[in-house]
Amino acid sequence: MKIALFWFRRDIRLEDNTGLNEALKSGLPVLPIFIFDSEILTELPKNDARVSFIYRSLEKLNQKLEDYSSSMKILMSKPIDGFKKLIEEYDVAKVYCNKDYEPYAIKRDEEIQALLEKNNISFHSLKDQVIFEENEITKDDGKPYTIYTPFKNKWLQSFKKEEYTPQELSEGKFFIEKHPFPSIKEIGFAPSQKTVKPFTLSNLSNYSTSRDIPEEDGTSYLSPHLRFGTISPRQIIDQLVEGDAVFLSELIWREFFMQILFHFPKVVNENFKAKYNGIKWRNKEEEYKKWCEGKTGYLLVDAGMRQLNQTGYMHNRVRMVTAGFLCKHLLIDWKWGEAYFAKKLLDYDLSANNGNWQWSAGTGCDSAPYFRIFNPSEQVKKFDPKFHYIKKWIPEFGQLDYPNPMVEHKFARERALETYKEGIENT
Ligand code: FAD
Repeated sequence: MKIALFWFRRDIRLEDNTGLNEALKSGLPVLPIFIFDSEILTELPKNDARVSFIYRSLEKLNQKLEDYSSSMKILMSKPIDGFKKLIEEYDVAKVYCNKDYEPYAIKRDEEIQALLEKNNISFHSLKDQVIFEENEITKDDGKPYTIYTPFKNKWLQSFKKEEYTPQELSEGKFFIEKHPFPSIKEIGFAPSQKTVKPFTLSNLSNYSTSRDIPEEDGTSYLSPHLRFGTISPRQIIDQLVEGDAVFLSELIWREFFMQILFHFPKVVNENFKAKYNGIKWRNKEEEYKKWCEGKTGYLLVDAGMRQLNQTGYMHNRVRMVTAGFLCKHLLIDWKWGEAYFAKKLLDYDLSANNGNWQWSAGTGCDSAPYFRIFNPSEQVKKFDPKFHYIKKWIPEFGQLDYPNPMVEHKFARERALETYKEGIENT
């Protein structure tokens, strides 16, 4: 029997899933698949919290598929090898998925498309994880935006809510076959203690102010859900009201960085702005270690790093403070910080992480100017004046065993200004 495959990737949901709906509309029975990519998995610790989250989300999705007498086929391999096996095992006529804009994914999909086409199987990859993709929001001359505000304005002008209403699951049929659902151990992992918080959209009425206060539950906690697609951007935007403009602008930042990565994939390894290539980073291992462990002697930096280490999440304001501290106060290459966040964040997303790290370092497309250097102690006064957030993560707060600041702020600031200036002059 000829079938279609739907390949779940960053879209682990049945609801409002563009590619899945297209597959169902094809008229062919749809076999849902997920591939645990061995190339990615071998790099991860055995209790990686992202793998646990993906696993639990797939489990839930698989339960829903029971209503359709179907089930998910899970593979563990290199995606290309997985497809070679699938097309031997089944009479596959079409393969559907949703687009992924990261350089690794683009290359992977091209390879798979070539394999499928060689076997007379069509490959359909659809826009789903963003409202606007690739070249949909560009300057009037067709070039990509590299500055956020005009990108946002064009995005808002182009957006018509009625065109982006969430879609019901299409009529159609799933392929009826019961596949064994592997245990997490069989995938080579152990369940993680770190869990993804449920998201909320009911606390956004004071978002523009409360989002900056780390002790408050003032943000949505959507990031891992958006990353792995347990909710779609359309489902989120559908629930927003007019007063949620600041919140919407954060979702637009997400799309801004995605299109930056798509158009300028060099940012993965390089400064967006080449004029910063001459900066002589100090890159002191022992200082990096203190930063990673939250032992810098700067309260907000340490609280943030400990929140990250313990939970896999860090509040956005604190991410900016910790990142700025690493690049400016310690003069450690932003790529080191980016790599540490990539290892630890439950919501790790290459485009947002890279974009925000380059923003913090001053090397990015629409960055904070390099001479804007956060004073971590002033940030405490502004955003955690009663030390509530800090005390939560630093139990030894105010005690003798809390370290002294590893570097004096004024000295570090002058040193950073000097180093950046020299770097620019030498480039
Ligand atoms: P909310 O404030 O509720 O925002 C809603 C959504 O908007 C977020 O879930 C996210 O999808 C998007 N968003 C918000 N702020 C940003 C932003 N600055 N850039 C891009 N998208 C944004 N976000 C990630 O999703 N993955 C990352 O790997 C990541 N790394 C970061 C690294 C640094 C150094 C910094 C400063 C920020 C990083 N961010 C990253 C952005 C931001 O900190 C998180 O998206 C946010 O804290 C997630 O919490 P929330 O969902 O409650 O956010």
